Amino acid sequence: MSNDMKNDVVLACESLYKSYHEGPQDLPVIKGVELAVKRGERIAIVGTSGSGKSTLLNLLGGLDAPDSGRVLLAGQDYAGLCEKKRGNLRNRSLGFVYQFHHLLPEFSALENVCMPLLIRGTSVAQSEQKARDLLGRVGLADRAEHKPSELSGGERQRVAIARALVPQPDCVLLDEPTGNLDSQTAGAIHELMIELNTELKTSFVVVTHDQLLAESMDQLYRLQDGVLTAD
Ligand code: ADP
Ligand code: MG
Repeated sequence: MSNDMKNDVVLACESLYKSYHEGPQDLPVIKGVELAVKRGERIAIVGTSGSGKSTLLNLLGGLDAPDSGRVLLAGQDYAGLCEKKRGNLRNRSLGFVYQFHHLLPEFSALENVCMPLLIRGTSVAQSEQKARDLLGRVGLADRAEHKPSELSGGERQRVAIARALVPQPDCVLLDEPTGNLDSQTAGAIHELMIELNTELKTSFVVVTHDQLLAESMDQLYRLQDGVLTAD
C-alpha cells in the first residue's frame, strides 16, 4: 500500500478478536475482523440480533478494548495512547451515535449538542450557532431548549445524531440510528449524512436493519459467526 492510500484510511482494524467472559463459558463474539474505512466512504454493517454488531462498533470507537488485534484511528492505535490522548483523538476525529441515545439528562438539547464543541475549546457563541444549525437540520429547531425527558424517543435520537455530527468528525459510527424513527425523519437523517459526506468527506459506519439505508451506502458488510464479509 502506498503512503497516500494509507493516509486515506481514517479508521481501520486488524485481526480483531473479542470474547465475553460472563458465566461459566467464554463467549467469542468477534473472531478475526478486518476493516478499513477510507475517507469519505460510507459503510453499512448488517447482521442478526446478537451477532456482535454493537460489540464491533464499540471496539472501533475505542469504547471497549479487543482481546487481540488493533484498532487505528487516523493511523494511531488506541492501545498505544494514554487515556487523555485517546480522548483527544476521539473528540477530534470520531462521532458516535449509540443504540440508546446517552444524552445528558440535566442539559437541554442545545447544551447536549454544544458539548463536544465546548470540550474542544470552541467559544460558547460559536458552539451555540453550530448546534442550532445542526438541530435545525434534524428538524428540531423549536426543541432546542427542551431536556431529553421532554422529548420523544425519536427526537432524542435526532439530538444524539446532531451531537455526533456537530464537530465535523472524520468518521461517524452509528448503531441502529434510525431504528425508532418514522420513515420521513429517517429519510431526513439519510439526506443529512449524504450532504456531510459530499461537503466534508465525512466517513460513516452504520449498523442498521434499515434496508434502504444499508443499500444507499457504498459498501455493505455482513457480520456472521464473528466474521465480517462484504455482502
Ligand atoms: P448485536 O449488536 O449484533 O445485537 P451485541 O454485540 O450486542 O450484538 O452482542 C453480541 C453477543 O455478545 C450477544 O450474544 C450478547 O448477549 C453478548 N454480549 C454483549 N455484551 C455483553 C457483555 N457486556 N457481557 C457478556 N455478553 C455480552
Ligand atoms: Mg446492537
